[in-house]
Amino acid sequence: MDEQRFWSKVDRSGDCWLWTAARRPLGYGALKVGGRVLHAHRVAYELVYGKIPPDLIVLHICDNPPCVNPAHLRVGTRSENTRDMYAKGGHGGRQRGTRQAKAARAGNVQIRLRELAEIKRLNIGKIGRLTGISEGTLRRMWYNEAIYVELDVLDALADLLGIEPGELFERAR
Ligand SMILES: [Zn+2]
Repeated sequence: MDEQRFWSKVDRSGDCWLWTAARRPLGYGALKVGGRVLHAHRVAYELVYGKIPPDLIVLHICDNPPCVNPAHLRVGTRSENTRDMYAKGGHGGRQRGTRQAKAARAGNVQIRLRELAEIKRLNIGKIGRLTGISEGTLRRMWYNEAIYVELDVLDALADLLGIEPGELFERAR
């Protein structure tokens, strides 16, 4: 890890230090190291505090995904992260709202869309055509990258699959 190069991609003009290079769909900074994509905030944490303890994740106390300011990062458990998101009712408070804050996926909650859809020989394209749900939304759920799922999306999918909305989720093993 070239430390100097890493920090050269960070805008440190504000309180939150923002990653200026590539970002993941949820806003987290990303960089490629040896062919692997790493989260910038995790790299920042390790550069300053040392190795992230196994089974712990790096949380933002500022709720700002692209921020890599080590002072805004701390380690926590996955369930802590989920509780945190439920409590806030929205990622970074930006998506507050009763219709959006239904489903949180953060480590210990998994969306089973792919598993359930494949049983019925459905793919993202087909589901989109049948329900009118956008491909981006479906893709995030399919690959378990969604943090929030709107209630009407859940309802439409449950309808299509013939299940209860709650059955779209399971606790991660
Ligand atoms: Zn910050």
